[in-house]
Amino acid sequence: MSDKAIFLDRDDTLIDDPGYINHPEQVKLLDGVPSALIQFKKLGYKLIVVTNQSGVAHGIVTEKVLREIHERLEQLLAEKNAYLDRIYYCPYHTDGVVQKYRKESNCRKPSPGMLLKAADEMDIDLEQSWCIGNSSRDIEAGRKAGCKTILIDMPPSHQRQPASSMSPAGASPDYKAVNIKEAVNIVKKYLRTSAGEQKQAPAVTTNQTEPVSQVAEHVPNAAESPAQAEARPPAPEPQEPDIQRVKPETRPKEPQSAERKMQRTEREVPADKTEEMLGAILGQLKSMQRAEMFGEFSVMRLLAGIMQILVLFCLLVTVWFLMSPERRDSSVFIALGFAVVLQLMTLTFYIMQGKK
Ligand SMILES: [Mg+2]
Repeated sequence: MSDKAIFLDRDDTLIDDPGYINHPEQVKLLDGVPSALIQFKKLGYKLIVVTNQSGVAHGIVTEKVLREIHERLEQLLAEKNAYLDRIYYCPYHTDGVVQKYRKESNCRKPSPGMLLKAADEMDIDLEQSWCIGNSSRDIEAGRKAGCKTILIDMPPSHQRQPASSMSPAGASPDYKAVNIKEAVNIVKKYLRTSAGEQKQAPAVTTNQTEPVSQVAEHVPNAAESPAQAEARPPAPEPQEPDIQRVKPETRPKEPQSAERKMQRTEREVPADKTEEMLGAILGQLKSMQRAEMFGEFSVMRLLAGIMQILVLFCLLVTVWFLMSPERRDSSVFIALGFAVVLQLMTLTFYIMQGKK
């Protein structure tokens, strides 16, 4: 029986991406990656990295250094008991300066070459597999290969680069997650749902017949694969975006002169534009909330939470002093002063947590 796999993008999915990584010391795992990989393994998935590395074609990094970078990645993961099964990379680019790598390649995402090659070499059932990455290229490659897809879509407050460069518009994913930890939850939920119910698979673009003419290089890993996957019917449940209906305002009677001009300007804002903006704001807030939910535990955050509770307590004491028949201004000011100081400390802890 074929295995199932999680195809993982590398940069800004598994490791921090400061631009081009061209030294092993630059490899830094993102929060929660080792534990997420361990959980994927427990679910019976092989873990395969598929990464575009046009830095080789651009002369920024050599294949030798790239292998060292990947060894470093595997070493960091192994320190946390997480293991990859294989890493595929595509060193080619049409604008490359190194002649050897200057060419078009169907292993370069959004083409699915690396996934198809892995499926062929490692006997992977693509329909039972997932492709996870932070770019629409990853999603498109996954969909073309016939996998289910999860876009790692960090809220802007958690991104180092502008959103447009992180996840450009393109193929829409089956699911979105704020980080890889939420992606684990999505896969688990999917497995639970599909194990209980027999549903029809959604329309997934497949392109299994595309030939793999270009060979994607790979670095084998010594780690052993886990137990084989169970057969199950494909039945993904696309997550519905929360749509907030905004009731259009009732048109008032025509006012006169200057007032009339102002109100007309307000009315001219299209209702669908307002809906779109409110939807985007709501989506962003939910995304930030999910990022917090699936964020790492930290002492700073715990302290900030405790401080915030103390601030509320001080404010309640202040109100109590104000309402007291024997009201003393000095007590009110002391309680209020404590509230202000604690609030400043809370903000400091939050800022320190953000810079961690
Ligand atoms: Mg990436």
